[in-house]
Amino acid sequence: MIQGTKKECRKCGLPQGYPGIKFNREGVCNYCIYFSLYRERENIIKEKLKKEILELINRVKRKKYRNRYDCIVAYSGGKDSSYLLYYLKEKFGLRILAHVLDNGFVSSQAFKNIKTVTHNLGIDCVITRPPIPLLKKVFVYALTERIPYPKEILAMMSQVCAVCLGMVFGTTLNNAIDKKIPLMFVGFTPGQYPAVSLENFLKVRSCMFLSDKVYKDDPLDIIKIIGDSVRERFGKRVEEFYFKSQYISSGMFVPKVLLPFHALLDYNEKEIIETISKIGWVRPRDTDACSTNCLINTLGNFACKKQLGYHPYIGELSHMVREGKMSVKDIKEATKIEVNSPTFFYSLEKLGLKRRKIR
Ligand SMILES: [Zn+2]
Repeated sequence: MIQGTKKECRKCGLPQGYPGIKFNREGVCNYCIYFSLYRERENIIKEKLKKEILELINRVKRKKYRNRYDCIVAYSGGKDSSYLLYYLKEKFGLRILAHVLDNGFVSSQAFKNIKTVTHNLGIDCVITRPPIPLLKKVFVYALTERIPYPKEILAMMSQVCAVCLGMVFGTTLNNAIDKKIPLMFVGFTPGQYPAVSLENFLKVRSCMFLSDKVYKDDPLDIIKIIGDSVRERFGKRVEEFYFKSQYISSGMFVPKVLLPFHALLDYNEKEIIETISKIGWVRPRDTDACSTNCLINTLGNFACKKQLGYHPYIGELSHMVREGKMSVKDIKEATKIEVNSPTFFYSLEKLGLKRRKIR
Protein backbone atom coordinates (compact mmCIF):
# COMPACT_ATOMS: atom_id res chain seq x y z
CA MET A 1 0.00 0.00 0.00
CA ILE A 2 1.32 3.42 -0.86
CA GLN A 3 0.71 6.23 1.50
CA GLY A 4 2.30 9.47 0.53
CA THR A 5 5.40 8.22 -1.20
CA LYS A 6 6.39 5.72 1.45
CA LYS A 7 5.61 2.07 1.03
CA GLU A 8 4.02 0.29 3.97
CA CYS A 9 3.24 -3.31 4.77
CA ARG A 10 -0.29 -4.15 3.74
CA LYS A 11 -0.84 -6.18 6.89
CA CYS A 12 0.97 -4.50 9.76
CA GLY A 13 1.78 -0.97 8.57
CA LEU A 14 5.56 -1.20 8.98
CA PRO A 15 7.12 1.40 6.68
CA GLN A 16 9.87 1.16 4.14
CA GLY A 17 13.15 2.14 5.78
CA TYR A 18 12.43 0.20 8.97
CA PRO A 19 15.54 -1.86 9.83
CA GLY A 20 15.75 -5.07 7.83
CA ILE A 21 12.37 -4.72 6.12
CA LYS A 22 11.60 -6.37 2.79
CA PHE A 23 8.30 -6.72 0.98
CA ASN A 24 6.99 -9.62 -1.07
CA ARG A 25 5.02 -9.20 -4.30
CA GLU A 26 1.78 -8.92 -2.36
CA GLY A 27 3.17 -6.05 -0.32
CA VAL A 28 3.50 -8.06 2.88
CA CYS A 29 6.64 -7.52 4.96
CA ASN A 30 9.13 -10.15 6.10
CA TYR A 31 8.25 -9.47 9.76
CA CYS A 32 4.67 -10.59 9.08
CA ILE A 33 5.84 -13.67 7.21
CA TYR A 34 8.29 -14.58 9.96
CA PHE A 35 5.54 -14.12 12.55
CA SER A 36 3.15 -16.53 10.83
CA LEU A 37 5.88 -19.12 10.27
CA TYR A 38 7.22 -19.18 13.80
CA ARG A 39 4.18 -18.54 15.92
CA GLU A 40 3.69 -22.19 16.77
CA ARG A 41 7.34 -22.64 17.64
CA GLU A 42 7.20 -19.56 19.86
CA ASN A 43 4.33 -20.98 21.84
CA ILE A 44 6.24 -24.18 22.51
CA ILE A 45 9.37 -22.36 23.64
CA LYS A 46 7.29 -20.01 25.80
CA GLU A 47 5.96 -22.95 27.78
CA LYS A 48 9.50 -24.16 28.32
CA LEU A 49 10.71 -20.73 29.43
CA LYS A 50 7.78 -20.39 31.78
CA LYS A 51 8.77 -23.61 33.48
CA GLU A 52 12.33 -22.38 33.82
CA ILE A 53 11.29 -19.08 35.41
CA LEU A 54 9.01 -20.87 37.87
CA GLU A 55 11.80 -23.25 38.81
CA LEU A 56 14.20 -20.36 39.43
CA ILE A 57 11.66 -18.58 41.61
CA ASN A 58 10.99 -21.71 43.61
CA ARG A 59 14.67 -22.44 44.02
CA VAL A 60 15.28 -18.98 45.44
CA LYS A 61 12.34 -19.32 47.83
CA ARG A 62 13.47 -22.75 49.05
CA LYS A 63 17.01 -21.59 49.87
CA LYS A 64 18.10 -22.32 53.42
CA TYR A 65 19.73 -18.93 53.83
CA ARG A 66 17.53 -16.58 51.94
CA ASN A 67 18.89 -13.20 51.03
CA ARG A 68 17.05 -10.21 52.48
CA TYR A 69 15.75 -9.78 48.92
CA ASP A 70 14.87 -12.59 46.52
CA CYS A 71 14.83 -10.26 43.57
CA ILE A 72 15.45 -6.76 42.34
CA VAL A 73 13.02 -5.19 39.89
CA ALA A 74 14.04 -2.44 37.49
CA TYR A 75 11.18 -0.14 38.37
CA SER A 76 10.15 2.96 36.42
CA GLY A 77 6.79 3.81 37.97
CA GLY A 78 5.23 3.05 34.56
CA LYS A 79 2.31 0.70 34.16
CA ASP A 80 4.20 -2.45 33.17
CA SER A 81 6.80 -2.46 35.92
CA SER A 82 4.14 -1.44 38.47
CA TYR A 83 2.15 -4.47 37.44
CA LEU A 84 5.26 -6.61 37.61
CA LEU A 85 5.86 -5.58 41.24
CA TYR A 86 2.28 -6.44 42.09
CA TYR A 87 2.44 -9.77 40.29
CA LEU A 88 5.72 -10.94 41.82
CA LYS A 89 4.61 -9.95 45.29
CA GLU A 90 1.03 -11.23 45.20
CA LYS A 91 1.51 -14.34 43.13
CA PHE A 92 4.84 -15.58 44.51
CA GLY A 93 5.31 -13.71 47.77
CA LEU A 94 8.81 -12.72 46.70
CA ARG A 95 10.91 -10.36 48.81
CA ILE A 96 11.45 -7.55 46.38
CA LEU A 97 13.74 -4.56 46.14
CA ALA A 98 12.43 -2.04 43.62
CA HIS A 99 15.21 -0.07 41.95
CA VAL A 100 14.49 3.21 40.18
CA LEU A 101 16.85 5.08 37.89
CA ASP A 102 16.01 8.76 38.07
CA ASN A 103 17.05 9.93 34.61
CA GLY A 104 16.07 13.51 35.41
CA PHE A 105 12.93 13.24 33.27
CA VAL A 106 10.67 11.07 35.42
CA SER A 107 7.18 12.57 35.45
CA SER A 108 6.05 13.87 38.83
CA GLN A 109 3.02 11.59 38.72
CA ALA A 110 5.34 8.65 38.04
CA PHE A 111 7.24 9.58 41.21
CA LYS A 112 3.98 9.64 43.14
CA ASN A 113 3.14 6.24 41.66
CA ILE A 114 6.53 4.88 42.71
CA LYS A 115 5.88 5.99 46.27
CA THR A 116 2.27 4.83 46.46
CA VAL A 117 2.68 1.48 44.72
CA THR A 118 5.77 0.39 46.69
CA HIS A 119 4.18 1.61 49.92
CA ASN A 120 0.90 -0.20 49.31
CA LEU A 121 2.68 -3.41 48.37
CA GLY A 122 5.14 -3.14 51.25
CA ILE A 123 8.16 -3.17 48.96
CA ASP A 124 11.50 -1.44 49.67
CA CYS A 125 12.62 1.00 47.03
CA VAL A 126 15.98 2.57 46.21
CA ILE A 127 16.61 5.33 43.70
CA THR A 128 19.86 5.95 41.80
CA ARG A 129 20.37 9.51 40.67
CA PRO A 130 23.24 10.11 38.24
CA PRO A 131 24.33 13.77 38.21
CA ILE A 132 21.91 15.89 36.15
CA PRO A 133 24.66 17.69 34.13
CA LEU A 134 26.01 14.31 33.03
CA LEU A 135 22.54 13.00 32.13
CA LYS A 136 21.91 16.11 30.06
CA LYS A 137 25.15 15.63 28.12
CA VAL A 138 24.37 11.99 27.42
CA PHE A 139 20.85 12.79 26.22
CA VAL A 140 21.97 15.69 24.02
CA TYR A 141 24.52 13.33 22.48
CA ALA A 142 21.79 10.77 21.74
CA LEU A 143 19.45 13.44 20.36
CA THR A 144 21.84 15.25 18.08
CA GLU A 145 24.31 12.67 16.81
CA ARG A 146 23.96 9.45 14.92
CA ILE A 147 25.35 6.81 17.29
CA PRO A 148 26.66 3.76 15.40
CA TYR A 149 24.13 1.33 16.87
CA PRO A 150 23.23 -1.72 14.80
CA LYS A 151 19.82 -2.00 13.20
CA GLU A 152 18.70 -4.65 15.68
CA ILE A 153 18.86 -2.09 18.47
CA LEU A 154 17.41 0.75 16.44
CA ALA A 155 14.50 -1.43 15.35
CA MET A 156 13.41 -1.51 18.97
CA MET A 157 14.06 1.90 20.41
CA SER A 158 15.23 5.44 19.89
CA GLN A 159 18.83 6.38 20.66
CA VAL A 160 17.61 8.26 23.72
CA CYS A 161 15.84 5.18 25.05
CA ALA A 162 18.93 3.09 24.29
CA VAL A 163 21.38 5.21 26.29
CA CYS A 164 18.87 5.40 29.14
CA LEU A 165 18.14 1.68 29.06
CA GLY A 166 21.87 0.99 29.33
CA MET A 167 21.86 2.99 32.57
CA VAL A 168 18.76 1.22 33.88
CA PHE A 169 20.44 -2.13 33.33
CA GLY A 170 23.80 -1.00 34.67
CA THR A 171 22.56 0.64 37.85
CA THR A 172 20.05 -2.11 38.67
CA LEU A 173 22.68 -4.80 38.11
CA ASN A 174 25.23 -3.00 40.26
CA ASN A 175 22.71 -2.78 43.08
CA ALA A 176 21.92 -6.48 42.76
CA ILE A 177 25.60 -7.42 42.74
CA ASP A 178 26.33 -5.25 45.79
CA LYS A 179 23.50 -6.80 47.73
CA LYS A 180 23.94 -10.31 46.31
CA ILE A 181 20.34 -10.45 45.10
CA PRO A 182 19.88 -13.64 43.05
CA LEU A 183 17.17 -12.60 40.58
CA MET A 184 16.52 -9.48 38.55
CA PHE A 185 13.28 -8.79 36.72
CA VAL A 186 12.78 -6.31 33.91
CA GLY A 187 9.31 -5.25 32.81
CA PHE A 188 9.87 -5.18 29.06
CA THR A 189 6.86 -6.23 27.08
CA PRO A 190 7.49 -8.67 24.23
CA GLY A 191 6.93 -6.00 21.60
CA GLN A 192 9.34 -3.60 23.27
CA TYR A 193 12.08 -6.12 23.08
CA PRO A 194 11.22 -8.50 20.27
CA ALA A 195 14.44 -9.21 18.43
CA VAL A 196 16.58 -10.07 21.41
CA SER A 197 13.91 -11.84 23.30
CA LEU A 198 12.37 -15.07 22.17
CA GLU A 199 14.78 -15.33 19.29
CA ASN A 200 17.76 -15.28 21.63
CA PHE A 201 16.07 -17.35 24.26
CA LEU A 202 15.42 -19.92 21.59
CA LYS A 203 19.10 -20.05 20.76
CA VAL A 204 20.40 -20.33 24.30
CA ARG A 205 17.46 -22.43 25.50
CA SER A 206 17.15 -20.33 28.57
CA CYS A 207 14.98 -17.42 29.65
CA MET A 208 17.96 -15.70 31.16
CA PHE A 209 19.10 -12.55 29.51
CA LEU A 210 22.38 -12.25 31.30
CA SER A 211 24.35 -14.96 33.03
CA ASP A 212 27.17 -17.37 32.36
CA LYS A 213 24.54 -19.46 30.64
CA VAL A 214 24.26 -16.95 27.85
CA TYR A 215 26.67 -18.25 25.26
CA LYS A 216 28.89 -16.43 22.88
CA ASP A 217 26.72 -17.34 19.92
CA ASP A 218 24.06 -15.06 21.27
CA PRO A 219 23.98 -12.68 18.34
CA LEU A 220 23.86 -9.32 20.00
CA ASP A 221 25.53 -8.04 23.16
CA ILE A 222 23.13 -5.16 23.61
CA ILE A 223 24.51 -4.18 26.99
CA LYS A 224 28.03 -3.82 25.61
CA ILE A 225 27.08 -2.13 22.35
CA ILE A 226 24.95 0.49 24.10
CA GLY A 227 27.54 1.14 26.78
CA ASP A 228 30.59 1.26 24.49
CA SER A 229 29.47 4.29 22.51
CA VAL A 230 28.64 6.23 25.65
CA ARG A 231 31.88 5.20 27.35
CA GLU A 232 33.89 6.20 24.31
CA ARG A 233 32.36 9.64 24.45
CA PHE A 234 32.24 10.31 28.19
CA GLY A 235 34.90 8.04 29.62
CA LYS A 236 35.18 7.36 33.33
CA ARG A 237 32.29 9.63 34.27
CA VAL A 238 29.71 7.14 32.99
CA GLU A 239 31.52 3.96 34.00
CA GLU A 240 29.51 3.24 37.15
CA PHE A 241 26.17 3.61 35.37
CA TYR A 242 26.73 1.04 32.61
CA PHE A 243 27.47 -2.66 32.67
CA LYS A 244 30.27 -4.10 30.57
CA SER A 245 28.67 -7.01 28.76
CA GLN A 246 25.88 -9.49 28.90
CA TYR A 247 28.44 -12.30 28.65
CA ILE A 248 29.57 -13.18 32.13
CA SER A 249 32.54 -15.30 33.04
CA SER A 250 31.47 -18.26 35.11
CA GLY A 251 32.02 -17.89 38.81
CA MET A 252 31.23 -14.18 38.81
CA PHE A 253 28.17 -13.31 40.81
CA VAL A 254 25.44 -11.70 38.75
CA PRO A 255 21.71 -11.99 39.24
CA LYS A 256 19.78 -14.04 36.74
CA VAL A 257 17.99 -11.47 34.59
CA LEU A 258 14.49 -12.45 33.60
CA LEU A 259 11.96 -10.85 31.27
CA PRO A 260 8.72 -12.30 32.62
CA PHE A 261 6.36 -10.59 30.18
CA HIS A 262 7.89 -12.75 27.45
CA ALA A 263 6.86 -16.08 28.87
CA LEU A 264 5.22 -15.92 32.25
CA LEU A 265 2.62 -13.25 31.68
CA ASP A 266 0.08 -12.64 28.99
CA TYR A 267 0.11 -9.01 28.08
CA ASN A 268 -3.26 -7.34 28.43
CA GLU A 269 -3.01 -3.58 28.87
CA LYS A 270 -6.58 -3.07 30.06
CA GLU A 271 -6.27 -5.72 32.73
CA ILE A 272 -2.89 -4.38 33.82
CA ILE A 273 -4.22 -0.86 34.30
CA GLU A 274 -7.32 -2.09 36.13
CA THR A 275 -5.19 -4.11 38.53
CA ILE A 276 -2.62 -1.45 39.35
CA SER A 277 -5.30 1.23 39.75
CA LYS A 278 -6.45 -0.74 42.78
CA ILE A 279 -3.05 -0.28 44.42
CA GLY A 280 -3.07 3.45 43.82
CA TRP A 281 -1.44 3.80 40.40
CA VAL A 282 -2.64 6.85 38.46
CA ARG A 283 -1.98 7.48 34.76
CA PRO A 284 0.26 10.56 34.40
CA ARG A 285 -1.21 13.41 32.39
CA ASP A 286 2.12 14.97 31.57
CA THR A 287 3.67 12.16 29.50
CA ASP A 288 2.83 11.37 25.87
CA ALA A 289 0.67 8.43 24.78
CA CYS A 290 3.68 6.12 24.40
CA SER A 291 4.97 6.40 27.94
CA THR A 292 3.54 6.29 31.44
CA ASN A 293 6.60 7.57 33.24
CA CYS A 294 9.09 9.48 31.12
CA LEU A 295 9.02 13.09 29.92
CA ILE A 296 11.91 12.95 27.46
CA ASN A 297 10.17 10.24 25.49
CA THR A 298 8.39 12.59 23.08
CA LEU A 299 11.62 14.34 22.19
CA GLY A 300 13.41 10.99 21.80
CA ASN A 301 10.71 9.80 19.40
CA PHE A 302 10.89 13.04 17.46
CA ALA A 303 14.67 12.74 17.12
CA CYS A 304 14.37 9.11 16.06
CA LYS A 305 11.97 10.02 13.29
CA LYS A 306 14.33 12.74 12.13
CA GLN A 307 17.45 10.59 12.37
CA LEU A 308 16.13 7.27 11.11
CA GLY A 309 12.89 8.08 9.35
CA TYR A 310 10.46 6.06 11.45
CA HIS A 311 8.80 6.16 14.86
CA PRO A 312 10.74 3.98 17.35
CA TYR A 313 7.55 2.35 18.65
CA ILE A 314 6.40 1.21 15.22
CA GLY A 315 8.11 -2.18 15.59
CA GLU A 316 6.33 -2.88 18.85
CA LEU A 317 2.99 -1.62 17.56
CA SER A 318 3.15 -3.57 14.31
CA HIS A 319 3.75 -6.66 16.41
CA MET A 320 0.49 -5.96 18.21
CA VAL A 321 -1.27 -5.64 14.85
CA ARG A 322 0.04 -9.10 13.93
CA GLU A 323 -1.30 -10.43 17.20
CA GLY A 324 -4.69 -8.89 16.42
CA LYS A 325 -4.53 -6.52 19.40
CA MET A 326 -4.45 -3.34 17.33
CA SER A 327 -5.28 -2.06 13.86
CA VAL A 328 -3.03 -0.22 11.41
CA LYS A 329 -5.26 2.80 11.97
CA ASP A 330 -4.56 2.63 15.72
CA ILE A 331 -0.84 2.68 14.91
CA LYS A 332 -1.21 5.91 12.97
CA GLU A 333 -2.88 7.47 15.97
CA ALA A 334 -0.35 6.11 18.46
CA THR A 335 2.71 7.26 16.51
CA LYS A 336 1.69 10.87 16.11
CA ILE A 337 4.38 12.96 17.72
CA GLU A 338 3.01 15.75 19.84
CA VAL A 339 5.50 18.45 18.95
CA ASN A 340 3.38 21.12 20.54
CA SER A 341 3.02 19.32 23.84
CA PRO A 342 4.37 20.78 27.09
CA THR A 343 6.68 17.76 27.57
CA PHE A 344 8.33 18.44 24.23
CA PHE A 345 9.15 22.03 25.14
CA TYR A 346 9.99 21.11 28.71
CA SER A 347 12.61 18.60 27.56
CA LEU A 348 14.16 20.98 25.02
CA GLU A 349 14.36 23.72 27.61
CA LYS A 350 15.78 21.52 30.33
CA LEU A 351 18.47 20.31 27.96
CA GLY A 352 19.16 23.83 26.68
CA LEU A 353 18.61 22.48 23.18
CA LYS A 354 17.15 24.12 20.08
CA ARG A 355 14.70 22.05 18.02
CA ARG A 356 16.64 22.71 14.81
CA LYS A 357 19.71 21.03 16.34
CA ILE A 358 17.88 17.72 16.04
CA ARG A 359 18.43 16.51 12.52
ZN1 LIG B 1 4.05 -6.56 7.95
